[in-house]
Amino acid sequence: MSAPDRPRHDAEQRLHLVVGATCNNNCIFCMEEDRVTRQHRVEAFTRQDFETILQTNAGRGEVMFVSAEPTLSPWFLPLVALARDLGYHTIGIISNGRLFAYPQFTRRALDAGLNLVMLSIHGPNARLHDGLTRTPGSFDQVMQGLANLAALGRDRVVLRTSTVVCRRNWEPETLLEHSRLLGPRVQQMVLNVMQPFGRGLAHLDSLMPPYSELVPRLARFYAARQPGMPPAYLVDIPYCCTEAAGIPEEFRGFVERYIYYDRKVLEGPPPTPLAPDAPPAQGPLELLTRDHEDSCNKVRFPFCQQCRHGAICDGVWRGYVARFGQAEFAAVPAPAKL
Ligand code: SF4
Repeated sequence: MSAPDRPRHDAEQRLHLVVGATCNNNCIFCMEEDRVTRQHRVEAFTRQDFETILQTNAGRGEVMFVSAEPTLSPWFLPLVALARDLGYHTIGIISNGRLFAYPQFTRRALDAGLNLVMLSIHGPNARLHDGLTRTPGSFDQVMQGLANLAALGRDRVVLRTSTVVCRRNWEPETLLEHSRLLGPRVQQMVLNVMQPFGRGLAHLDSLMPPYSELVPRLARFYAARQPGMPPAYLVDIPYCCTEAAGIPEEFRGFVERYIYYDRKVLEGPPPTPLAPDAPPAQGPLELLTRDHEDSCNKVRFPFCQQCRHGAICDGVWRGYVARFGQAEFAAVPAPAKL
């Protein structure tokens, strides 16, 4: 979906179900830096909590299973089946894809009702992908997972991929090789520009591409795309950086809005010698939105008020501005009236 089609109303925001407490990859740019806190937060949800959230939001029609690696949740398959029974028309997952390498698991997930899979694949070969996930064998497993999903899910699952673009995979030749590899098996690929947040902040100097150096490379990639390659939507980069820069308009995408639930970690007594690993006390369920997340971690400039993209732009990561400054950003004027 390109920018002008972006949903504007709460009712159009999909539900993200935060079910994954742990991950079997170890991505160098993972946004979830504090894995222990994440695990405590997610493990504080009961199965009943997840069922209630699904029931409460059934009218939205769209749910994505997210956080860490959602397939590792013991409740993943029954919750997918519940979503199907509640009438969700889109039941998806953002996954590192490794469990789908097992045909029996893939078949069970599809039979339960999973019909949208977004696989994280960060390069066209094991050297690049496994280097970024820091998990040997993860490339072979996600590619086997993709093959299983394509073979077993024909006509009943939409397959997409997500690639975090950083200095290791940003060259046009690499992105073209990646597109050729995915070929007709996926309906679309998403290029997520690396986000200077979480672990990404720790590797800013070695991995984060300055937008002004990245965009010309992306323009060369788009110019060289060939028939048979999946559409490649570019997200996580402010629109003013890609304005009239050779990125086809239809591929200047956006990240869909979503709502999710979290539990606040409450202040409590420190761990005791008898219970040194006791997780902190958890508060009640809290409804949050992606807009709330963005407002905490992104910044907008005074000139954004004059920008034609101001109403739909998420702003710029604070970590990016702290490292690279704001010289790359400028308001895009409205088109001249005829
Ligand atoms: S609103 Fe601001 S950051 Fe966003 S595209 Fe416009 S000038 Fe750039």
